[in-house]
Amino acid sequence: MKKAIICNDVYKSYNDLPVLTGIDLEVKSGEIVAIVGPSGAGKTTLLQILGTLDTADMNIKTKIEIEGVKLQNMKPSRMAAFRNEHLGFIFQFHELLPEFTALENVCMPGWIANNNAKILKEKAAGLLNQMGLSDRIHHKPLELSGGEQQRVAVARALINDPKLIFADEPSGNLDSKNAASLHEIFFKFRDQRGCTFVIVTHNDTLAEMADRKIILKDGKIIS
Ligand code: ADP
Repeated sequence: MKKAIICNDVYKSYNDLPVLTGIDLEVKSGEIVAIVGPSGAGKTTLLQILGTLDTADMNIKTKIEIEGVKLQNMKPSRMAAFRNEHLGFIFQFHELLPEFTALENVCMPGWIANNNAKILKEKAAGLLNQMGLSDRIHHKPLELSGGEQQRVAVARALINDPKLIFADEPSGNLDSKNAASLHEIFFKFRDQRGCTFVIVTHNDTLAEMADRKIILKDGKIIS
């Protein structure tokens, strides 16, 4: 079975504060993994390192392989291109750009990748349609509800057809109905496209729905 993530011996300290103290983790392609644990356990730090948004403290045994590509010694410019092409991100607070419409926000990672603008626009509209937002595509984020904003953020995460999607408390800011429909979208896209999802969450329902629940405590995986 293909592996989306293989990491060994991942450590991270901020100044003298040890945050990750030896993480070994493998995630299979197409798996939905929930990372849970108390606040301050290091969940976001781990997600950011796996998502190439932060770097681990490398030692001789540290290995981080994402979609078959070793991250060690990768140049920042190559890392940025790899991230744009292969990874998708969904954050707790949608992080949409307020001056752009829903459609433009979804197109953004595709524009950065220099993809054909016309094809991108059609694809973005198709994704927003699948999110039930076909009559909202020309609205700006502030004109959308929290649930709608987060679904736009999911469409943006999917525009470049990433194999691997990282989500940090994606439903943390949503009511239970909007949270449930967001979670359904994750499972739908996994089933349709075989995407892998790694999701940091405090939402018990989502954690139980996931294929696997990883519990992090004091910078270590405890189960
Ligand atoms: P979790 O997501 O499990 O709540 P985090 O990974 O956000 O935990 O944080 C783990 C610890 O690392 C916390 O004590 C936090 O204050 C600290 N931390 C996170 N990011 C930084 C940073 N950039 N600089 C200093 N300390 C940080």
